Amino acid sequence: MDIDPALEVLRRVFGYDSFRGEQQEIVEHVIAGGDALVLMPTGGGKSLCYQVPSLVRSGVGVVISPLIALMQDQVDALRDAGVRAGFLNSTQYPDERAMVEAEFLAGELDLLYLAPERLRSEATLRLLDRGEIALFAIDEAHCVSQWGHDFRPDYLALAELHERWPKVPRIALTATATDATRKEIATRLNLEEGRHFVASFDRPNIQYRIVPKNEPKKQLLGLLRTEHDGDSGIVYCLSRASVEKIAEFLVQNGIRALPYHAGLDARTRQENQSRFLREDGMVMVATIAFGMGIDKPDVRFVAHLDLPKSVEGYYQETGRAGRDGLPSTAWLTYGLQDVVQQRKMIESSEGDLAFRRRSSLHLDAMLALCETVECRRAGLLAYFGQEAVPCENCDTCLTPPESWDGTVAAQKLLSTVWRLKNERNQKFGAGQAIDILLGRKTAKIIQYDHDALSVFGIGEDLNESEWRGVVRQLLAQGLLAVEGEYSTLVLTPAASDVLGRKRSVMMRRDTRPAPAKKSGKTS
Ligand code: ADP
Ligand code: ZN
Repeated sequence: MDIDPALEVLRRVFGYDSFRGEQQEIVEHVIAGGDALVLMPTGGGKSLCYQVPSLVRSGVGVVISPLIALMQDQVDALRDAGVRAGFLNSTQYPDERAMVEAEFLAGELDLLYLAPERLRSEATLRLLDRGEIALFAIDEAHCVSQWGHDFRPDYLALAELHERWPKVPRIALTATATDATRKEIATRLNLEEGRHFVASFDRPNIQYRIVPKNEPKKQLLGLLRTEHDGDSGIVYCLSRASVEKIAEFLVQNGIRALPYHAGLDARTRQENQSRFLREDGMVMVATIAFGMGIDKPDVRFVAHLDLPKSVEGYYQETGRAGRDGLPSTAWLTYGLQDVVQQRKMIESSEGDLAFRRRSSLHLDAMLALCETVECRRAGLLAYFGQEAVPCENCDTCLTPPESWDGTVAAQKLLSTVWRLKNERNQKFGAGQAIDILLGRKTAKIIQYDHDALSVFGIGEDLNESEWRGVVRQLLAQGLLAVEGEYSTLVLTPAASDVLGRKRSVMMRRDTRPAPAKKSGKTS
């Protein structure tokens, strides 16, 4: 009886009965020699998408991954399953490397993991020339994107793989992908022609909660004691110092906590990581240096004591909870101080103006998620360009916050943005739109005749910071998006429903205009 070779490999090698979601389609596409860009949330099962084709196609699957620290584990796990896997990276001794190279040349490997910088060396490229390559898998493909939070210049060189090996299929994979990131990955890796597979980013078993920060340590302890007694979890902090402080605090309070940050020596980090993976009920207190590629199925909670820098980061970090599909908590506490601190960090960063603008917009979108009066899950998914109905498993669904009807404000802002877009194809950001609404005759307003627009001065009922709040919330609700180097504001297709009065826009109470100023001006 004939059995599909991909399914046969899935069952025999990996011990699974069936493919999940779009895995089968992806696997078949790549086996047939097609290029693919795969967007799938953490825990979605990306690895099999390139591992199975590597085993089915003849030759070696070459996997490019920035996760050098995890290569040994990944390769060990594959070898346990009987897969002939090896890796090449800078942590190896020359003789180890020579052995892997010999195995590759002898056709004794199914999978070869490579650190991206390896491909900068002509020696590695020549080595690859001498063997047979089944496919190139580019893991963590968002590293190619300036929008991502861990951009790596080495990744840009990956575009050349296609020129050197035009017949070898390429599959790029990422868990971090807004539409803008997807487009950028496709452009930079020459994957516009390949098939794009976009899985649902919903993680229904994760309960999202965002609470105001009062006494963070006490709040955290409360969460752990009342809901997650004895559970494994991750607590994210922004700085190394607070990681140390919080870990110590938890230990003092009888919780088995370990610290993890880049300031610890490699051995301690490795040790803490393995304890977290192996032992039950460990709490890892960490900076975002921890977690990429960590495959621990029973992480019951991810707590953030500081505001993440972007929605992508937040999504990726919280996504480490509940990979086993069981109920889990993503809990974040944030306060005004977080906002002030992060704004300062952006201002004083060494990046250029475009970088700072981008960081600032990422932060705005994160803030908007914090402030939303609508379902957090729907907000998250909207950010990734996906639709969702209210989930009944997030704090705003479970205990709806007070809100105000910001529809008119939204219409004013959206129509201003729309007019700017039509304006001689010039590009403008939020600042210009707000200046127009407030009727300010700045040099830039006069230069572009924006005081002649019908929307000029129609937004005087709100002040500048309130308008910024409106922009933030529209970004979070997916009604506005930002594009390009100059962070131009653009309308999304959904915005037309607001402009066409087909839907209203609710905003969280705290961004509501002060009553005193409103009186007599609006109905
Ligand atoms: P990602 O890289 O997308 O975060 P992984 O490839 O690490 O996800 O897969 C997450 C978990 O799901 C792993 O433990 C993996 O073994 C499991 N898994 C993936 N595909 C399947 C499948 N078809 N059937 C059962 N388990 C699967
Ligand atoms: Zn919800």
